[in-house]
Amino acid sequence: MEESIDGSRRQSKRKLTVCVIGSGGVGKSSLTLRYINGHFPEFYDPTIEESYITQIEYGFHFHEVEVIDTAGQEEFLLFRDSSMAQGDAFLLVFAIDSVSSWVHLKELRSKIVREKDDDVSIPMVVVGNKRDLEEDRQIPLEDVVEYCQRIKCPLIETSAKTSLNVTESFRMLMEQVEEHRLNLFI
Ligand code: GDP
Repeated sequence: MEESIDGSRRQSKRKLTVCVIGSGGVGKSSLTLRYINGHFPEFYDPTIEESYITQIEYGFHFHEVEVIDTAGQEEFLLFRDSSMAQGDAFLLVFAIDSVSSWVHLKELRSKIVREKDDDVSIPMVVVGNKRDLEEDRQIPLEDVVEYCQRIKCPLIETSAKTSLNVTESFRMLMEQVEEHRLNLFI
């Protein structure tokens, strides 16, 4: 709560759920833990779905954010049973050295749009992770740019390993949330 000019109290804290989604092995947990704890985990159990509560200051508000690091099991579940159904905003992650993760990302994005029945107001950012493995790149940047322009979604390339653009990717997503002006805060 914060004090306004006329002395009344107003709610300044907002809450939303961010889902980090993508194929297994693209670096979802690494990105999430790098963002939340500031370090790159050397060992991590890929089967565990974790969620973290954090606060992000953006647009003059503190947003209380639950970050769900999904375990990549979405394809085995009905949408409504998956963590994706709870998501207000999505980091769609692929690894630049993995063609299958790029294909999967596009499928996941279509699934979200279809299930939520909305292709314009869902805040999303496409994240090309493992940028430090540039020499192993399998997905040309132009292809990703072309896709992102088509679906009107921002793109960022990150490295959870070196920390490149990790904070920036979450900040970009918050920017999308603001832009879409979702009515999802409590
Ligand atoms: P998840 O299954 O999508 O959660 O992926 P993880 O975060 O468990 O990462 C899978 C593997 O990729 C692990 O061996 C990580 O150390 C590695 N990894 C994650 N992010 C990066 C990155 O940015 N660069 C490199 N080189 N390896 C990464």
